[in-house]
Amino acid sequence: MFFVKRKGRAMNLLDSIQCLKGIGPKKAKLLQKLGITTLYDLLTYYPKSYEDQSAVTPIAQLAPGERATIAGTIMNVAEKQAGRRRMTILTALVGDGTGFARVTWFNQPFLKPKLKAGRRLFVTGKAAYAYGGRGQMEISQMQSYALLDEQEDGAGHLGIFPVYAATDGLNQTFFRKTMQTLLAALDDGEGSGFALSEVLPQGVAARYHLLPRGAAFHAIHFPKDADELREARRRLAFEELYLIQCGLLLLKKQAREKQKGVRHLACSTLFRQAFSQLPFQLTDDQAAVWQDICRNMESDTPMRRLVQGDVGSGKTVLALLALVKTVENGFQGALMAPTEILARQHYETFTKQLAGTGIRVGFLSGHITAKEKRELYERIASHDVDIVIGTHALLQEGVQFAALGLAVTDEQHRFGVAQRSTLEKQGTALPDVLVMTATPIPRTMTLTVYGDLDVSQVRHLPPGRKPVRTFVRTTDRRPLIYKYVRTQAEAGRQSYVVCPLVEQSDEQDLPSAEEVYDELRYGILRGIPCGLVHGRMKDAEKEAVMQAFYENRIRVLVSTTVIEVGVNVPNATTLVVEHADRFGLAQLHQLRGRIGRGDLASYCILVSDSKTDTARERLSILAATQDGFQLAEEDLRLRGPGQFFGARQHGLPDLKIADVLRDTDILLEARQAAQETLGRQEDLSFVRPILASHYKEQFEHITDV
Ligand code: ADP
Ligand code: MG
Repeated sequence: MFFVKRKGRAMNLLDSIQCLKGIGPKKAKLLQKLGITTLYDLLTYYPKSYEDQSAVTPIAQLAPGERATIAGTIMNVAEKQAGRRRMTILTALVGDGTGFARVTWFNQPFLKPKLKAGRRLFVTGKAAYAYGGRGQMEISQMQSYALLDEQEDGAGHLGIFPVYAATDGLNQTFFRKTMQTLLAALDDGEGSGFALSEVLPQGVAARYHLLPRGAAFHAIHFPKDADELREARRRLAFEELYLIQCGLLLLKKQAREKQKGVRHLACSTLFRQAFSQLPFQLTDDQAAVWQDICRNMESDTPMRRLVQGDVGSGKTVLALLALVKTVENGFQGALMAPTEILARQHYETFTKQLAGTGIRVGFLSGHITAKEKRELYERIASHDVDIVIGTHALLQEGVQFAALGLAVTDEQHRFGVAQRSTLEKQGTALPDVLVMTATPIPRTMTLTVYGDLDVSQVRHLPPGRKPVRTFVRTTDRRPLIYKYVRTQAEAGRQSYVVCPLVEQSDEQDLPSAEEVYDELRYGILRGIPCGLVHGRMKDAEKEAVMQAFYENRIRVLVSTTVIEVGVNVPNATTLVVEHADRFGLAQLHQLRGRIGRGDLASYCILVSDSKTDTARERLSILAATQDGFQLAEEDLRLRGPGQFFGARQHGLPDLKIADVLRDTDILLEARQAAQETLGRQEDLSFVRPILASHYKEQFEHITDV
């Protein structure tokens, strides 16, 4: 589908860019730095923006501050020398019959002979009132200009022009020219005129009113007008999302059809015993999600379910119940957490709540001794342990379950999709899979990242929670803030103090955890047991500190964001975040989720001196709402998906043109189209090579399509 016939020779879009006229080893090397190695990479190096020079604005109608293109005749040209280096400044006065505008060129003396009174000139830039200009305008920040020959009518200088992310050695002119060469090379001159063959199955383009593929590639680089550009963008975004959706749906279908899953029976005695030992009643939301899980587990199509619930909404208990259910049915279960601390905490919760049931729980991390590890591997392989809780050490090769019935991953967004699949592949019948996440991923992203999963939500927090009150304060209030932390500590309550950095850095003048730790324990918190935990400590040290905090032997815990995920200390009532503007909203919300976990009133104090509007807006949104979903949407809006969570570790495919935030409508159509394609059992062999070449890791598990 990538082949293009050209003068008898097939040209493949996956060929090196060096096939293209005008690209030698030097340019190729520069392009490679931008991630462009194949013709396809180049073709999909879409403009980052466009210059709209499609219409000429009469000078009398120029709006100061706005970009515009004017066309007029040069009335006169003035030349000045300025500055110590005698820079040449040429100023032309241009008239178009409605008014006059000044256009200035700096340091380009060679233009002087060309700028002659009477010549026609096109100029694009920002309009402003000319200084001391008697009603004259001025074009500042000139983007481009063109001097017309006598016979020219100027139409060639009008249009929408692409603007590429250029770099040293590769300027706009290079990109514009190269794209034109590429598109011309890809045109075969027959039939429709575009040899860029269609990749969408027959009918899809027509059904969804999409531009032909070749036309879209032309138009995305060199649109005739705004309408065509919009249609081109829609077409290419649709294709991108459609292919990803096909991949995700194929994964889902494959999991369901090719291999049977484990069929669990209805809950019985062991389950009831564990259930009755829970220290609370399930909330309505939890009960409803539990029904979803049960339904999936009791069918022989493998469960693929994502449970979304805000921090503290009580997802752990759902994992526990599901794992008990698999054990009751004679299987083993695995629970994978993103951090050692969190895994250990789950381990403790499970051992406590399953006491007396006879269920054997094991703990696996990269930091247990080699001997312990060997022993545990053996117990896992010989079904001598029922539930194994651990970090990604669970994915190591030595771990071979005798009978894996259910794999649960907690805070999944920390794991790539590929890792998830490794654990899934352990059994003979496909084990059920439950994914839990507190990151309130907006629907569009859920469909893109987790399109192969069904989704359940725990919307409401368990009863009796007091909402955390959130304040934004400037650094001059720190003495008061820490005095409050001190009184809390003296009353037996605990606090977290979170800092953006581990240690003092020369580059960034930010409070480091180490500094703040020393400042507090030798200063205002003297005599109060304080602890320090950060990502650069050894796991054993980290753990000892967390354990001490857990047991309230430490009252104030100074940390980096290592405490972000899942840690549960209900006695902690205060969270101070230093330099809060350095964190994302979703991240701050996660951090805030560390407090307010008991029935005590809790306070979150965000310390920031930042004066930028965005920073203030973000922090005040956080102070105003507790709704994780709303915060996630805001965060995405303000920071973009890349920052929202490292796209790579999240498993979010690299999107070249679609925008998971704004293109919801296209996404929903693309998903529907993909569902239709799959539903009609159409030949999908075209999907695999495309997915394989564009999104390697995500879809490597698709087999014979
Ligand atoms: P998360 O969804 O963030 O993983 P957890 O499962 O850690 O939340 O639950 C947070 C706290 O809420 C825990 O202390 C847990 O024991 C408690 N909890 C969970 N479900 C309920 C419930 N139905 N009623 C009361 N407390 C609950
Ligand atoms: Mg949790």
